[in-house]
Amino acid sequence: MVTTNERGHVEVRCDGCLSAPASALGIRTWPARSDAIAELIGPAHGWAWVDGRLRCARCARAAACDVTSHSFGNWTPNDEGTLAERTCTVCNTQEHAPRYVASGRHSAA
Ligand SMILES: [Zn+2]
Ligand SMILES: [Zn+2]
Repeated sequence: MVTTNERGHVEVRCDGCLSAPASALGIRTWPARSDAIAELIGPAHGWAWVDGRLRCARCARAAACDVTSHSFGNWTPNDEGTLAERTCTVCNTQEHAPRYVASGRHSAA
């Protein structure tokens, strides 16, 4: 969401996780809404509009996974030895499965 604070500066928060871009001086502000949007959706920040909502780079990637499904890496056994886990390379969502499932013939992602 894009808001204007009491001093007339524009502040932006992710509509998904409510995180705000910060600088060394605190929460970033811009003189105008258009300046904020132009900078945030640029390559340096990677924010995006998703379904009409402004998302930070992390939430934008997670939203993309909802549409295209996750891009999981390989199953790896976890430390306990009874479970395997795999992690989405895009949004870091983790999935767990019994180890016999992950190592069997029906483990296609
Ligand atoms: Zn977010
Ligand atoms: Zn994902």
